[in-house]
Amino acid sequence: MTTLNAAANDTAATAGPRGFASPQGVAGSQRAHTAPANASSVELRNITRTFGAVTALSDFSLTIEPGEMVALLGPSGCGKTTALRALAGLEDINAGTILIDERDVSDLPAYKRDMAMVFQAYSLMPHMTVRQNLEFVLKIRKISAAERASITERYLDMVGLSGHAAHFPHQLSGGQRQRVAIARALAVNPKVLLLDEPLSALDAKVRVQLRDEIRALQLESGITALFVTHDQEEALAMADRVAVMYQGKIAQIGAPQDIYERPESEFVARFIGQVNDISGTVSGQHATTAFGSVPVLPGSVTGAATVLVRPENIAIEPAGSGAPASTVGIIEQFNYLGSVASVAVRCGDVLINAQVPARDGQHLVLGSAVTVALREAPALAV
Ligand code: ATP
Repeated sequence: MTTLNAAANDTAATAGPRGFASPQGVAGSQRAHTAPANASSVELRNITRTFGAVTALSDFSLTIEPGEMVALLGPSGCGKTTALRALAGLEDINAGTILIDERDVSDLPAYKRDMAMVFQAYSLMPHMTVRQNLEFVLKIRKISAAERASITERYLDMVGLSGHAAHFPHQLSGGQRQRVAIARALAVNPKVLLLDEPLSALDAKVRVQLRDEIRALQLESGITALFVTHDQEEALAMADRVAVMYQGKIAQIGAPQDIYERPESEFVARFIGQVNDISGTVSGQHATTAFGSVPVLPGSVTGAATVLVRPENIAIEPAGSGAPASTVGIIEQFNYLGSVASVAVRCGDVLINAQVPARDGQHLVLGSAVTVALREAPALAV
């Protein structure tokens, strides 16, 4: 049974009332990683989980450093939720070992693993007020009444809901309900915070706001966290590292920028963001295409290849008189998207999709001739 111990009080002492950081301030790879001394490490080692003929996890391994937030990202059915539930102790495993702080917890039931989970559905007790929802989880952990009250106040304050303590869940917005669920999860001072698509039920604007708040809370409390999402932007914005899953395994794990800019496989390159398929020839460290040459990423093939180029790595300029014919195309589509514009250019049989800053796109008129060139950014050739 979890109790609030000295470590809990440390967390409480540093928790205090807090504001939430801006998205730029907390974005995944920009974080200076300093975990508190009491943060836990997590390791899932060679986990296999089958459901009849379906293999949900196949020799799956993942290590989460103390105080780190890792996002599990992948297509539907790749095993994200199964991995999270296996760590929580809510899912049996056929093989493998789960370690918390290097201690094998594989055979421990969920309630002894000292983890807290936040689900997509808010899972608050509907007949209890916000305050009672928090106090309840502390009461079953045998925290004294006085301490319960003070912990509850502190965590409600932390998520900006002190003024709603007497409200029932149905009197709150979706975002507020999820804040209560997060406060309730953190209030028990778990070793690990597990988030299963916590933002999926919210509308777009609240999602962005709440994801920044969750990330700020996680950074400030220093808790080790794993969250499951199929929203790429969410994963890239929130996590220290993103684990892209495919068919029960991790296809690639790394800092958000590495995952996006240095995909190691065709699956990851295509799954994260968008790519243009451009024919080329790879020789040594470079691929040569009709639109110029680019460095290739490790793992690229040699010889005839398809070079996978991100839309923002394509430069579009009005076609001058001396432009080589192979680089000239006609603007077939122009979509103004606010800060950026998406431009589709027809070059013979190939449709090239580029993304340019909207202010640079004013001269890009439908039907006009432009040149297409590849920027120097490394690309994967497959
Ligand atoms: P989604 O993004 O759609 O939630 P996911 O990546 O979280 O997908 P899982 O829910 O982990 O995927 O499921 C992985 C595979 O295991 C799927 O093929 C799923 O159908 C199967 N599966 C999961 N739970 C069960 C179960 N209780 N019984 C049978 N099959 C299951």
